[in-house]
Amino acid sequence: MLNQLTISELTARLARREVSAREATQACLNQVARVDGQIHAFISHDAADALAQADGADQALATGATHAQRPLLGVPVAVKDVLAVKGQPLNCGSKILGGFISPYDATAVEKLKVAGAIVFGRLNMDEFAMGSSTENSAFGLTRNPWDLTRIPGGSSGGSAAAVAADEAIATLGTDTGGSIRQPAALCGCVGLKPTYGRVSRYGLVAFASSLDQIGSFTKDVRDCATMLGVISGHDPRDSTSVAQPVPDYTAALTGQIKGLRLGLPKEYMIDGLGPEVKAAVDAAVKQLQTLGASVEEISLPHTEYAAATYYIIAPAEASANLARFDGIRYGARVDGADPLELYSRTRGAGFGPEVKRRIILGTYVLSSGYHDAYYVRAQKVRTLIRQDFLKAFEQVDAIITPTTPTAAFKIGEKSDDPLQMYLSDVFTISCNLAGICGVSLPCGFTSGAGARLPIGLQVLGKPFGEETMLQIAHAYEQSTSWHRAKPAIPH
Ligand code: GLN
Repeated sequence: MLNQLTISELTARLARREVSAREATQACLNQVARVDGQIHAFISHDAADALAQADGADQALATGATHAQRPLLGVPVAVKDVLAVKGQPLNCGSKILGGFISPYDATAVEKLKVAGAIVFGRLNMDEFAMGSSTENSAFGLTRNPWDLTRIPGGSSGGSAAAVAADEAIATLGTDTGGSIRQPAALCGCVGLKPTYGRVSRYGLVAFASSLDQIGSFTKDVRDCATMLGVISGHDPRDSTSVAQPVPDYTAALTGQIKGLRLGLPKEYMIDGLGPEVKAAVDAAVKQLQTLGASVEEISLPHTEYAAATYYIIAPAEASANLARFDGIRYGARVDGADPLELYSRTRGAGFGPEVKRRIILGTYVLSSGYHDAYYVRAQKVRTLIRQDFLKAFEQVDAIITPTTPTAAFKIGEKSDDPLQMYLSDVFTISCNLAGICGVSLPCGFTSGAGARLPIGLQVLGKPFGEETMLQIAHAYEQSTSWHRAKPAIPH
């Protein structure tokens, strides 16, 4: 079925004119109709618009456009509900935006369109990207395609589930503390968080501006390299995007990793690490050695402070970023006798409990008297965490870790315990604090009673070291078959 293909498989068939973009798009739409009642990866989608875009792609193909010029020509791609797509609703998984329609395209979305992608559908997420399970969405929860009683991870749970369930060929998500890599691991797909500054955030609704990056979910590493090449690059509309040339990331996929040096951080061998995750990652490390890489233990001494540091900095920035949702400028409004009452009623009714918790936390750590004790101190620890990585990268080419401590947990299992929920990000948040890049890819399955659940391997790369990181991920992937497994979704 066409919806099961990778980007490279689909574009090869489109180029040979064996299939049309309309057929590929229809196949994805059919799969959404077939399984999304169960999975609920999508908040909304517009089938007629998707097919119209597909017809445009078919016309371009008929008049000689190539995938060398437009690498995603005819490929259906869906996006997380936090990215602006002109003319489409933008809700960020929240009620507070009401019926807001984006007046313009985010740069990453514009780049997808220029590359020929069919941009269809809004993917479910934790409200304003705050969460690790997609249970904090005002639009209901998303289920893990491998086991419908479990969460898909978060906050980009819809983006991961849509790829795992073959409802889209690839998707975009965002990663502030792990929101691409963690759901990719739990749903058995490939998810990449680029280096801070690699991808423009223009048109992305900000959560924590010093941490947020846009990245992709795909079915294999080659597709991930293709997507990264499309969305990367400097953008004058986002001053944090870096004017560094965009290499051909697919050219880095040589299949060879002989002589590369990989580091295993000893601080990641924590008590909460599940035995099956540990066994799968150990086996992956052996496989990487068999492929010719050398492996050594490294130390990232400030790892134990990463979660605490993140949960000060991210809420602080969120409290400032979310001040704009006041009932005056965008979306929903609950009237009041005066502006202050209007603000508080709108925000009281519009935001969900986790977002309120973050705003309260963030406002507190920034308040006078506590600012130095919490926020400033967290910034100093953040610098130490970045230095840990830069020092380690003098010794090794990339760092290998589990993506998550355990496989997907049950729906509701951690929703009453925010601290437990926050701890599901222990292996992913340091990467954002340090501003480096990271990718998660499938490295095995749990074998316990019940459904087989995917396990993710995380490869962390140097700042702007995506090529080497992808080279390693690809060589490992091509020597295994984990990425080819598909969930059996009841419908
Ligand atoms: N789970 C983390 C949080 O709740 C990370 C979220 C993200 O990366 N957007 O903040």
